Amino acid sequence: MRIDLHTHSNRSDGTDSPSELVSKAVSAGLDVVALTDHDSTAGWEEAEQAAMDVGRIELVRGIEVSTKLDGKSIHLLGYEFDPTDVPLLAELDRVLTGRNSRLPGIIANLNAIGIDITAAEVDAKASNAKASGRPHVADVLVDKRVVVDRDEAFDLYLMPGRPGYVHRYAADLPDTIRLLKAAGGKTVLAHPWSRGSDRVLTPARIAELADLGLDGLEVDHNDHGLEARARLGQLARELGLVHTGSSDYHGTGKSARFSLGCHTTARDQFERLLSR
Ligand code: AMP
Ligand code: ZN
Ligand code: FE
Ligand code: FE
Repeated sequence: MRIDLHTHSNRSDGTDSPSELVSKAVSAGLDVVALTDHDSTAGWEEAEQAAMDVGRIELVRGIEVSTKLDGKSIHLLGYEFDPTDVPLLAELDRVLTGRNSRLPGIIANLNAIGIDITAAEVDAKASNAKASGRPHVADVLVDKRVVVDRDEAFDLYLMPGRPGYVHRYAADLPDTIRLLKAAGGKTVLAHPWSRGSDRVLTPARIAELADLGLDGLEVDHNDHGLEARARLGQLARELGLVHTGSSDYHGTGKSARFSLGCHTTARDQFERLLSR
């Protein structure tokens, strides 16, 4: 069984529609794929319909919520929760509002250093997206040959500390675990030790989150080296957390290293996750 529990469609910053994503998942030999767009469930319906039409793949309905812990950005995966849960929707709404209200500031900052970019150009790149973001700004910069790819756009202009960066609202991590659990969902820390997150997500902190109801750790992810994966895998075992692995596929929005199924979740871990 090949199970990939973290992918993005163009409802956030991936480049495939939800149905294209499902058919590519079938072609990649996946038996189970989770759609986990940033901060939105807008792709669920189309992906579910596509999975039913194809018939050979199980769709897991998920999300990747932008949260923070001690001021550091942390991504939390949520699975199979009630998408109509009112307190959860209210929090996701705050995050989405924060995403949209940040874009004018990013554009103004880029204009101020002499880069010609408009809100309409970014909106066109994010036309299918419920959750717009810096990757859509990056795509405009790529089209204009200011940078060669999204990675370079982040490195030069869009990361914290770079001239285009603008802070945005993110949900509190412990609160979001509680909200997703209260809505009947399962929660997994996405790439817990990528981009310096290991500074806040110490083993002691992860143990506290496990006590709050956290269900799993995304151990196998391209942002983790072999040593991080070994240590996170050990930590998951010690804390009784589910060990997942996934691609974080974004279509052409990320390098080919992040192809569908490049990391997968073992069947017993997937079954444990769903039955918790
Ligand atoms: P945003 O949604 O605007 O906060 O941007 C976050 C998205 O951009 C996520 O999908 C990340 O995968 C991607 N991202 C964040 N930092 C970088 C980076 N340094 N290089 C490339 N992509 C990044
Ligand atoms: Zn993304
Ligand atoms: Fe992420
Ligand atoms: Fe992701």
